[in-house]
Amino acid sequence: MIAINMPKHVKYIINTLEKNGYEAYAVGGCVRDAIIGKEPNDWDITTNATPMQVKKLFKHTIDTGIQHGTVTIMIDKVGYEVTTYRIDGKYADGRHPDKVEFTVSLKEDLKRRDFTINAMAYNDTKGIIDLFGGIEDLKEGIVKCVGNPYNRFDEDALRILRAFRFAAVLNFEVEEKTKKAAGDLAENLNKISKERIRTELDKLIMSDTPEKLMEARKCGLLKYILSEVEDDINIELVKAMPKNNYMKWAALLYHREEEEVSKILKKLKFDNKTVNICKRIVGYSKDFRNIYKENVRVAAHEVGVDIFDKFLEFSKVCINLQDWKGGEYPDNSDYINNIEHLYKKVIDDGDCLSLKELAVKGGDLMEIGVPKGAKLGEILNILLYKVLDNPKYNNREKLLEIAGNIINNE
Ligand code: ATP
Ligand code: MG
Repeated sequence: MIAINMPKHVKYIINTLEKNGYEAYAVGGCVRDAIIGKEPNDWDITTNATPMQVKKLFKHTIDTGIQHGTVTIMIDKVGYEVTTYRIDGKYADGRHPDKVEFTVSLKEDLKRRDFTINAMAYNDTKGIIDLFGGIEDLKEGIVKCVGNPYNRFDEDALRILRAFRFAAVLNFEVEEKTKKAAGDLAENLNKISKERIRTELDKLIMSDTPEKLMEARKCGLLKYILSEVEDDINIELVKAMPKNNYMKWAALLYHREEEEVSKILKKLKFDNKTVNICKRIVGYSKDFRNIYKENVRVAAHEVGVDIFDKFLEFSKVCINLQDWKGGEYPDNSDYINNIEHLYKKVIDDGDCLSLKELAVKGGDLMEIGVPKGAKLGEILNILLYKVLDNPKYNNREKLLEIAGNIINNE
């Protein structure tokens, strides 16, 4: 019997439920990951106790999704989701089953789960409950639907994308029939919320084998989820990027215009910060061969100090893979090493790189007669570029003198 070493709080929850006459098991992703020796993200528990019965047995609980049977038990600030055995109906909104029915059968609960590798349960008394050949598929490295893939993808089309996401994260293959059904029903992805699609895509491209995305493309999925870049992905670039969310997405969208990057990410309901950062990483292209401290400061300002180091790292990967759109083609990434070196000096010297660090503010310029409005911003910007060119100018007198000259010459 395979034994899984469950965390003590999970054991405690399962024991408590069992002691009170209920069944309880760790289930789904945690069982899968534990079997292959991967640290599970979180431990989900399935039980025949109803949410009310669960709540009676534990001190701190949160009603996470009572109508779907889920109660979160809090122990030492960590939450454990306990869900009553259930049978799911169709997912009309692609988010929640329209109606769920509680059941007393573990088998029914496992049957509603997406893939055989995700449909196993475990506890210390019963061992692994594997009713659909999950262990075998884990060994073979196969992602296969529980039951008829056409029915399963029809109930919830997100599973189509999840199949490739798990294939990527685990470096598995999607089983043939499952793959065929995924291709045939790909259009149903139109019904799925963008947030859910984003979450799966995110996990897929952050995995060790993002090239599984190209298999999803072969099956025709990208038309419905990333049509804008369907024919224009350099997956090697995505793969070679460090595991940073911004860099991965910027790599995926590298061949798009800045404005389109923003459109695509907004459509996928990314937060503004991510949109903004990815846009800056993709959008900045300059000739990086003749580089001095002066233009390193300008570049750091224009890309943004918050991500300039990431941008440089990103650029190095692009150059090494000979996929570079910044100005004339540098023959190797030494150029970027040189910029990194200079940038470090700029930072060590505490050079001004943004309006925030400029020695004069809008108020100072208003005092010498610059009217509030666009003009004020324009002059501040001119002053900043003077300072980027020569950090010695970053003092009040010098900058007010320059500003005075600008006004007088108009
Ligand atoms: P991860 O490690 O990414 O969290 P996971 O397997 O835990 O992977 P979750 O999305 O957290 O995936 O879902 C937990 C479990 O719930 C799955 O293992 C699966 O049994 C079931 N499940 C989740 N989403 C679906 C779905 N859309 N259709 C059917 N079963 C699902
Ligand atoms: Mg999970």
